[in-house]
Amino acid sequence: MNRKRVAGMAGVAAACVLLALAGHILSEEKNGIVTDAGGNEIARLMYGSQTDDNQMDGNRTVRYDCADGYEAYIDLACREAAEILCERKGIREEEAFRMLVEEEMTIQTAFRSDVMEGLLDVCGEGRMPSGVLATERAAAVGDTKGHVLACYSHSAEDSSRNYVTYPTYAGSTIKSLSVYGPAIEDDIICWSDLYLDSPYWRTVNADGEEEVWPVNTGSYTDKMWTVQEALKKSNNAIAVKVLKDYGVGNSCRFLREKFGLKTEVEERAVFDGKEDDVLSHIALGYLAAGITMRDLLGAYQPFANGGVYTPMHAVTAIQTGDGKECYQEEFKATQVFSPETAFVMNRMLKTVVEKDGTGEAAFIEGLDICGKTGTSDESRDNWFVGMTPEYVCAVWYGLPGAGMKNESPAVFREIMARVEHHEGLEYQKSENVVEVAYCEKTGLLANEFCKEQKAGYYKKQNMLEECDCR
Ligand SMILES: [Zn+2]
Repeated sequence: MNRKRVAGMAGVAAACVLLALAGHILSEEKNGIVTDAGGNEIARLMYGSQTDDNQMDGNRTVRYDCADGYEAYIDLACREAAEILCERKGIREEEAFRMLVEEEMTIQTAFRSDVMEGLLDVCGEGRMPSGVLATERAAAVGDTKGHVLACYSHSAEDSSRNYVTYPTYAGSTIKSLSVYGPAIEDDIICWSDLYLDSPYWRTVNADGEEEVWPVNTGSYTDKMWTVQEALKKSNNAIAVKVLKDYGVGNSCRFLREKFGLKTEVEERAVFDGKEDDVLSHIALGYLAAGITMRDLLGAYQPFANGGVYTPMHAVTAIQTGDGKECYQEEFKATQVFSPETAFVMNRMLKTVVEKDGTGEAAFIEGLDICGKTGTSDESRDNWFVGMTPEYVCAVWYGLPGAGMKNESPAVFREIMARVEHHEGLEYQKSENVVEVAYCEKTGLLANEFCKEQKAGYYKKQNMLEECDCR
């Protein structure tokens, strides 16, 4: 298994408060503005001075002022706005930053201060619940239409790092995207298909001891598990086996084409006939290029909204100082899963937060919560990505070497408990999905003789055969 930390990924988030700018003679009085969803100012962009911290050598800088804790969001919005200007005007990033100030532009965002205050209350300095005191941590809340409503990031390692856009390992949160979602989409698996909980590899090491891979959090039961149970308890061996059945190359393509994730290293390995070398990358969340919180948040939206993916973004419009519309958001929504697959996955992800699921601590009475946990080796990454019919929310923290329980589901619960939820909202269902009883012994459609039965959700087009218990 690849245990190396993702290397060479910095550079995504450079200076947080100071945005680089090539040397120009600039007016000191001008300001760009960032507003929230209601048009209220939440940050002011201005020229920095030569003495500001983090200034790039020899360059003037653009900096911003905002409330404490809002930095990650303002950084996200400014970089997005600069990217938009670069694309539209064919200019470089530092010129775009200068233009935002010089032309006194207004960047309108989807920011919601009520959501942000809830987030800060939980994730702010020294306020993480459940004893989590990670110096490296972040959280983000989005709606189900691609808008980042609020986000927070804190890094003691590098104060300019924004973990919302900084790649880390996804751990098991990737299983829904790389294994179970696509395999259900292609009718390779269904809710109660049975897989043996046993290692994918058994080898004998130099000392004559047996080694097994992958390692599960618990010991192997050597029993048949349903796919749903494997997701609920985040069984690594079964994720690998389902991935092999679906196809490693297919999964790489799915992640790249549907979510824009970087899978070059993995696709190269598959091409070279070495797909088993990258099983942990795809099935267990160790993609060589990593994944950002923004991308992970976006990729979970389809499980809340009937299968539609919109890249997560903060900026909704940009205007120049004289009020001219410079940019209006265009929705780039795509149907990445069928409504049937999205709903079956949604119901499976709901079982993760039920009793004995890895995300049990995310449960909130009266809210229909779904989600998935993820951890990487030695607690370097601790994830929970969850949803309600109204929101998607990702929580991450790093505690390298701690080897402690992942507390992110509890952090998610604390955040969601502070956010306003509209009553009567439901996930998008599908008429082509039915809830039926399956036989626990065979995983097939239960008949009157099947002694132990449980309910599962199935696509009509991939319906179970009847069990032969008599
Ligand atoms: Zn039966």
